[in-house]
Amino acid sequence: MPKNNLKKLISFFVLTFLLLDGFLLSQIFYKPVSSDLKVYMLNVGQGDAFYLKTPSGNDFLIDGGPDRSVLQELGQKMPFWDKDIEFAILSHPHADHIEGLNDLLDRYRIEKLVYSDSDPSSFSLQNLLERAKSLGTELIPASQYSTFTLESALEISIIEEPQTCSDQNDCSIVFKVKFNDFKMLFTGDASEKEWASILKKNPDLNSQILKVPHHGSRTGLNEDILKKIQPEIALIPVGKGNRYGLPSSYTLELLKKFNAKIYRSDLDGTVKISTDGKSYSIK
Ligand SMILES: [Zn+2]
Repeated sequence: MPKNNLKKLISFFVLTFLLLDGFLLSQIFYKPVSSDLKVYMLNVGQGDAFYLKTPSGNDFLIDGGPDRSVLQELGQKMPFWDKDIEFAILSHPHADHIEGLNDLLDRYRIEKLVYSDSDPSSFSLQNLLERAKSLGTELIPASQYSTFTLESALEISIIEEPQTCSDQNDCSIVFKVKFNDFKMLFTGDASEKEWASILKKNPDLNSQILKVPHHGSRTGLNEDILKKIQPEIALIPVGKGNRYGLPSSYTLELLKKFNAKIYRSDLDGTVKISTDGKSYSIK
């Protein structure tokens, strides 16, 4: 081969390599930035798991559902190279909320985990905390009224974090996610007992979106609570044909009475809300 042609061939390969390399690097490190906050009620069967993609591209998880199905759901929402969940909250350590987080740690790293330490005897909780810590997670015990600013205009404020309860459901961390004018209330599996204490303290509960407590169970809501929240949308994470008969017809009727539009994971699958902080759309 003439020297000139060889030079051209080498230059061609070097150029191709550089271009390909640049493309791959940009794919690996590119964090898509959109001005919207996206909230997903994940379809994980009988349990709770919510995934939020923040406007700056951070990943925020609330509970992990009952099993590995959270991995499949996140695999569809997060790019394959992103294995970092920047922020997570565990509402309470019952199996239908915590087990998926244990499975999640096989594949993802959680940077910060907020949890309730009201039940130190919970084996699943201790197991999760130990594993997460060994993988580099910063563990943050929840405390009432604490506020986390995830990024500009995106705030999480804890409304209730009881230290004692006869049923762990009533030690659920109840908190609000606020993105400018958009407000969503997360309620774990709280029942009227926990709400009684919340209502007594009279915090601002008004939110367009309500994560219905305890999979729509009969004791999760009442008129006084809904008067304070005034939700436009009610999201019910619940398993198809679950053996508890959830959601209860009482809760469904009550939500209808307050003109809340109901979305259920057993009927609607994964539900996505997008918001720019002013208005929102849902599908
Ligand atoms: Zn539950």
